[in-house]
Amino acid sequence: MKYLLLLIIGSMLIASCAVNKLTGKSQLSLLSDDEIFHTSDSMYRDYLKKSKVISTRSDVDVQMVQRVGKKIVQAVNKYYSDRNMQSQLNNYRWEYQLVQDPQVNAWCMPGGKIVVYTGILTMTKTEAELAVIIGHEVSHALLNHGKQRMSQSMLLNLGGLALSSAVADKSSRTKSNIELAYGIGTQVGLALPFSRKHETEADQYGLIWTAMAGYNPNEAIPLWERMNNASSKEIPEFFRTHPTEVNRIRALRAYMPQAMKFYRQ
Ligand SMILES: [Zn+2]
Repeated sequence: MKYLLLLIIGSMLIASCAVNKLTGKSQLSLLSDDEIFHTSDSMYRDYLKKSKVISTRSDVDVQMVQRVGKKIVQAVNKYYSDRNMQSQLNNYRWEYQLVQDPQVNAWCMPGGKIVVYTGILTMTKTEAELAVIIGHEVSHALLNHGKQRMSQSMLLNLGGLALSSAVADKSSRTKSNIELAYGIGTQVGLALPFSRKHETEADQYGLIWTAMAGYNPNEAIPLWERMNNASSKEIPEFFRTHPTEVNRIRALRAYMPQAMKFYRQ
């Protein structure tokens, strides 16, 4: 019986791995993009309805978020089209919103819905630093990190046959898994953290988009140093989802020469 369960789980996992074109690596993927994009989109609309979206076009911060977001997305589009991967972005519908919320946080949902909280603008000192943040969040989306966290939480929470029935009836679980992955559900502070590996990947691709968008990627260093120095009491949500430590700064510095190759002033 045990053997049969392992066989079922094993075959499901093999069938459930997809290659991410950006990294060329195989990823765990128990949920389809269609399903995730669709559910993410409706949850995003609900979130906007319940939140204080700053929609004043003349607001300088709104203008900055829109400007930086669009430049980052242009950079992503160029990178993908230069490598004949443009079709990977077909289902993305990019949006950029600034939300009145003191939490130091920002996210990009699967499918390209970018939300910046006013709280994070108290941490960023320059437009380039905001580009680093948005570039990082967009990378999490492009690299399917949310989907992997969702798939992993399904695996962790379920075992054996329960898993196969959950996968068969997974659409009902998608919503709660997205809530867990992004912490945008009703229960604050429940978001799962990204792993260190995901953070490093998001940092590195984020620096490439930042550089291609015309911002100096070196500005990531003072930003993350400031984030590190701020107490975790001040910025709980962002640190919960983005575990960080001194090694991160070292890794960013080490990657900087590669990112600078993409920098066009
Ligand atoms: Zn992150």
